[in-house]
Amino acid sequence: MNAPRGAAGTAAGAILAHASRGILGLRPYEPGKPPEELERELGVRDAVKLASNENPLGASPLARAAAERVLARLGVYPDGNGYRLKRVLADRLGVAPEQIVLGNGSNDVLDLLARVFLRPGTEAVYSQHAFAVYRLVTRAVDAEGIEVPARDYGHDLDAMLAAVGPRTRLVFIANPNNPTGTWLGGERLRAFLAALPPGVVAVVDEAYFEYVTEPDYPDASRWLAEFPHLVVTRSFSKAYGLAALRVGYGLCHAAVADLLNRVRQPFNVNAVALAAAEAALQDEDFVAESRRVNREGLELMTAECRRLGLDCIPSVGNFLAIDVGGEAAPVYEALLREGVIVRPIAGYGLPQHLRVTIGTPAQIRRVAAALSRVLEHR
Ligand SMILES: *Cc1c(COP(=O)(O)O)cnc(C)c1O
Repeated sequence: MNAPRGAAGTAAGAILAHASRGILGLRPYEPGKPPEELERELGVRDAVKLASNENPLGASPLARAAAERVLARLGVYPDGNGYRLKRVLADRLGVAPEQIVLGNGSNDVLDLLARVFLRPGTEAVYSQHAFAVYRLVTRAVDAEGIEVPARDYGHDLDAMLAAVGPRTRLVFIANPNNPTGTWLGGERLRAFLAALPPGVVAVVDEAYFEYVTEPDYPDASRWLAEFPHLVVTRSFSKAYGLAALRVGYGLCHAAVADLLNRVRQPFNVNAVALAAAEAALQDEDFVAESRRVNREGLELMTAECRRLGLDCIPSVGNFLAIDVGGEAAPVYEALLREGVIVRPIAGYGLPQHLRVTIGTPAQIRRVAAALSRVLEHR
């Protein structure tokens, strides 16, 4: 950005001085590059975007039909309590509706947690290479983020527990983690939750829950009755394919949900999203098919990496972090010129890796072929 000049610049400077230290130190979240932008900037047509962990199958036809029905009633506010969606979720998950907080994407719930439990002088603990939003929401309220070194790219729970101190209010755990795809087994995660000092809220972020097929992968929502300090977050953006609509939820003790609901925007989840999410829950076949396509895609992408002589971090999500064997930024740029959008993750402390979303087999082959050409000319 250009430095502001003149009287207006001085005024802007005075305003900047009033922003909190935490916010001044932040940079906006960097989303995956939209294909339209690539077309504008480089004139590339038919770009394939595997940069935002979107579902290559799109969304369930049931969800789409439900969304379209709401379009006839755009003049009406949504149900601010999300009664119907909460009812269906509660039945499905075996919790009370009072234990559910709906969000404008699960990111919204992460933000609510920071606003409720953090303030200047307090700390949130999270792992190196963890999802970027944890740091964002922590710094936005001027609390300290304690980033704990990772172990084999994943969360080091012993080190994270050791990092919890008297000022710690929140611990963020992504299971599986984005962008590494690493995951934690049930026994270790449960022991970690049991060992946390009282008053520390543990957020287990299960945005990719529906994709994971490992037998030892825990459904943390089953521990809610046992751990009142546990918050589990989930999303309709990934396996349910509703990223455009922004809807997710948190599951927790009713007293915690009550606090989160006090600071939630009155209509934070729109009517189209509410209806589509409710319908999406009725289409288990779609989710099962998404899971199957992803499983096979992960295997195919991993095999393609092996063929190219590239290491990747074993992942249970719908993405793979690939080590390109050198600085990843020029490889990312060269892939863009090939019409392939992936995600550079230097901002996550992984400057040699690119995160590639698992697409359809055809998309995976296209990325692999482009990678092969780009790496040959490096
Ligand atoms: C994608 C993602 C989310 C949030 O997605 P929403 O679209 O806001 O629901 C949360 N956590 C992780 C780890 C993610 O990758």
